[in-house]
Amino acid sequence: MILPDAGHTAPMARPAFVSNPYYLLATLLVILLVSCSQSPEKSDQEHQLDTTKKTTPDSFTIRQQQVADSMAQIRSSRKKIYLTFDDGPNAGTMNVLNAVIEEQVPVSFFIVAKHTRDSREQIQTWEKLKNTPGIELCNHSFSHAGNRYSRFYKDPSQVVADFIRSNDSLHFNNSVARMPGRNAWRIGEIQHTDVRESKTAIDSVFTAGFKVMGWDVEWGFDHQSFAPDADTALIFRRMENLLRDSATKTPGHLVLLAHDQAFRNEEDILLLKAFLASLKKNPDYELVLASHYPGVK
Ligand SMILES: [Zn+2]
Repeated sequence: MILPDAGHTAPMARPAFVSNPYYLLATLLVILLVSCSQSPEKSDQEHQLDTTKKTTPDSFTIRQQQVADSMAQIRSSRKKIYLTFDDGPNAGTMNVLNAVIEEQVPVSFFIVAKHTRDSREQIQTWEKLKNTPGIELCNHSFSHAGNRYSRFYKDPSQVVADFIRSNDSLHFNNSVARMPGRNAWRIGEIQHTDVRESKTAIDSVFTAGFKVMGWDVEWGFDHQSFAPDADTALIFRRMENLLRDSATKTPGHLVLLAHDQAFRNEEDILLLKAFLASLKKNPDYELVLASHYPGVK
């Protein structure tokens, strides 16, 4: 193999500055002058670029915003579930409250004012309810009609006075109320009365400034043993079906009713915890407090 030999290469024409050092010096001087005369301008440009960098979000920030926007979109499309527990403070309320605290879910307790002072345990439970963040306390009357509903609803002024008495003694921070023994609604356009004879009294409660909330689905219990319905899968299906068919009082919003006194023993408390955990992790649902129901505020 014959290696190329520089000596055999034809001589190339040499640039002028190589052969003339003065020419080289002059060229460098021109470059230096041009570069100096341009430097303030360049500096301004750089400053402008720097400023732009500070005000324009980088790609990571843009991606973060996109993720936040997508999350907000997912949240707004989720069905809203309002978990409501009635009749406390009574047997079971402390168990429900502890389960709610453990599972960290928003729940609205519909309080019977008389029950907040009936016994030492109930007074303590009421204190804990008042001091638990993330839950809501709503008006379920003072007397609960003494559980004699027909007689109670015959006197609308007595019904209104009962709710005002409850409000004055417990100072609720919202106007949501639930009628004792009745699934009645008076919120915005929703007007529903389940027992016609109670209509005038319920209208009067609404006129007095309360937003009357009933329920879409009830988690029932045995009125002898107080045990809650164990078939929670059936309750889930009923909830799914009603929401799918837009058959709730407000489409996309479902109010579930349960009763504190149904959760008295360990087995039922475990059932409640599992129920709350399932709802919480369901990506189609968002758990919301009763005062956030459309038309309440
Ligand atoms: Zn009740």
